[in-house]
Amino acid sequence: MTSARSSRRTPWFKVRKSSVHGKGAFALRRIRKGTRIIEYLGERVSHEEADRRYEIKDENDSHTFLFVVDSKTVIDGGTGGNEARFINHSCNPNCESVIEGKRVFIEATRTIEPGDELSYDYQLGRDDDDPPNVDEIYACRCGHADCRGTMLWPPKRPQPASARTPRSGAAKTAPAKTARSKRKAAVKRSKPRTSAKVPRR
Ligand SMILES: [Zn+2]
Repeated sequence: MTSARSSRRTPWFKVRKSSVHGKGAFALRRIRKGTRIIEYLGERVSHEEADRRYEIKDENDSHTFLFVVDSKTVIDGGTGGNEARFINHSCNPNCESVIEGKRVFIEATRTIEPGDELSYDYQLGRDDDDPPNVDEIYACRCGHADCRGTMLWPPKRPQPASARTPRSGAAKTAPAKTARSKRKAAVKRSKPRTSAKVPRR
């Protein structure tokens, strides 16, 4: 009883400096696979509003906290957000984002030990009008052996018609429907901004 109580008081993680990027979220105790760790909170705005808020940002600034819920709604973790926005991207993550009833939750996909950094795969969507250096802007530094080098998904930029299949339109950023793909940012990135949560400094 006592231990259950005290563990209830101990938060799952704490935010501190990360070697991956800016700040990160680190487990304070063992988190079992399947645990719903935190809800991704922030002001819920339209895509238009999200665009408006971040369009003035430098194109090379990947430091925003937008999370696409669906074709109508984006969560802006930069306004009224919680610590979920500090969870970094990884290509080999121990968490995933789950969209349920238009709310977004971060859940453990495996058992996480105290001290481990929490992460999930942002899978930022690609857009037809992404600048050529979009992969640099959203470069991944997770350091895993299987790092794909980018926080974007699909991992490779669709090739121009000449080089590949004539279809490059796939990256259309359909609203996050399939809960666990598509998540974060992205949908609707007319500019690379809508992106990742990388902590600002
Ligand atoms: Zn990576």
